[in-house]
Amino acid sequence: DPITTDMRTLTEELEKFAKDKKVEIDTLKVREEYRKDFLGNVSHELKTPLFTVQGYIETLLDGAMNDKNVRKKYLQRASKGVDRLIYIIKDLDLITKLEVGELHLEKENFDIVELIQSVFDLLEMKAEKKNIVLTFDMDYSRPIHVYADKEKIQRVITNLLVNSLKYGRRDGTTEVSVENLIKNKVIVRITDNGEGIPKRYIPRLFERFYRVDQSGSRKEGGSGLGLAIVKHIIEAHEEKIYVESEIEVGSEFSFTLEKSKVKVNP
Ligand code: ADP
Repeated sequence: DPITTDMRTLTEELEKFAKDKKVEIDTLKVREEYRKDFLGNVSHELKTPLFTVQGYIETLLDGAMNDKNVRKKYLQRASKGVDRLIYIIKDLDLITKLEVGELHLEKENFDIVELIQSVFDLLEMKAEKKNIVLTFDMDYSRPIHVYADKEKIQRVITNLLVNSLKYGRRDGTTEVSVENLIKNKVIVRITDNGEGIPKRYIPRLFERFYRVDQSGSRKEGGSGLGLAIVKHIIEAHEEKIYVESEIEVGSEFSFTLEKSKVKVNP
């Protein structure tokens, strides 16, 4: 009977329509949750440095301004607070772009050993402050060419090394090595002998804004975005990132990269 068939088709159509709408609403709800959560975290992270800056400015206005030495000290601290705000906002901008897939990879062939050395140089002062030695645990005189987005991998190495300095022990060591893994892959390892991370926190480390409570991370400046950025960049390369850690012994973060296919003359 054509009418019954028509009715059935219509019912099916309607059911499908309702189902699609439900899925749409569910997706919107998840997005809304995500957005609220994100905004909550953002305002929380921004509040601390903002209140610090506000505190110094108010104290200056209340009279501290009249003392030349105090004035300079407070202005320097307020300026540090502003630097921290800028740093967090830059990280936020980057993670947002990474999460919505707006950041495209620009892959090229480059020497990963040389890149690591350049990041060592940039972090030298920071390392000296805690008397931490940044060193290679390999023959660093031989180049190792990889195929990846150089700028983003520099960011990965920087974030991991900065963490090793922040959570590393005074007079400690951070060692980096690059090894052949399988035919077309290398693995970069960054090992510190710092405070380590309790096992139960490891699964959440790469979530944005996640910071281990007991660790020195609250006193250490940071946005809690460093490892989330690292994970996004590595996953965008379709590579893997690993972490192993033991309390009081140290942590090792490692990630894989694709070897360069181009033969480079030594
Ligand atoms: P943060 O800005 O807090 O450093 P990250 O995303 O870079 O944010 O790191 C998240 C948390 O993981 C840190 O707050 C810290 O508790 C822990 N962590 C990261 N790297 C190390 C490390 N090398 N040793 C010990 N703890 C670490």
